[in-house]
Amino acid sequence: MRDDEPTAQALALLAAAGTGRSLLLFGGSAASMAEIAMRISSAAVCRQPVRIDALPYPCGDCAECLLAAQRQHPDILWIAPRQGSTKISIEESRMVREGAALKPYQAARKVFIFEQAQRLTAEAANALLKILEEPPANAVFILVAESSAHVLPTVVSRCHPLRCGIESVVAEKAAYAEVIGRIFEAPEAAVLNGVYGELSRLTRRDIELVVQELSGICRDLAVWQYRSAGVLLLSSQPPERLGVWSGVLPAAGAAAACEELTEVLSAVAANANVKMCVDRALKAVVRRRDNARIGR
Ligand SMILES: [Zn+2]
Repeated sequence: MRDDEPTAQALALLAAAGTGRSLLLFGGSAASMAEIAMRISSAAVCRQPVRIDALPYPCGDCAECLLAAQRQHPDILWIAPRQGSTKISIEESRMVREGAALKPYQAARKVFIFEQAQRLTAEAANALLKILEEPPANAVFILVAESSAHVLPTVVSRCHPLRCGIESVVAEKAAYAEVIGRIFEAPEAAVLNGVYGELSRLTRRDIELVVQELSGICRDLAVWQYRSAGVLLLSSQPPERLGVWSGVLPAAGAAAACEELTEVLSAVAANANVKMCVDRALKAVVRRRDNARIGR
């Protein structure tokens, strides 16, 4: 069961009767998350679920499960960019909203899966906010994104996040917990010299991990302050730490920092000079952090 924690969590959420759900799967490989989305959606339509640890898993044998496995189930919609486009447009969002308002064809629930939620245009995402916030009782929305940092905070804040990453990634990130703490708490000069020196010596892959985590934290801080609820943790930081940092970096600054860090991540992935990337990532946080302090 341990290796499929996200599915177990999702099934527990779906088991609550009479409520729709909006879930965000993130942090895993595209293939593994598609598999998890498939399992969750099969469970939502299965006629004879198998109980494991009191949770209803799909049987895999009934007509509904077989259709689900072939992506042919009329009550499970996989939403992707239209042919010839790289984006999921507002037309798709409208179609989903209309579909969600109708009763399921043959199962008890309807499931809408956005396999690449990062491809939603801002317009398309905005058109979904209301329905994600309060899904119809028999509707389940599953948004999938490799990194939560690529999905608009307004969307993230309306979904229940399910981290699908492997334990080792979390462990690797935890190794940088101390240095990340200094980025939020040490004086600017110490960050731009000391921390900069330490990070610049890391491999590109490790720098990517640190920037990814920084971007997750800023996303958490923005969403946290926007929603005033501490349940949406996309970074691997303990809530107490985020609580302290939310006093250091206000929502608007955190959202702007997150946006810039996402750009830095793309630059790191595109083989840009790592020292410049580190410098930019640190400034993205520190400058906004200290501006916030001065403004107080
Ligand atoms: Zn079944």
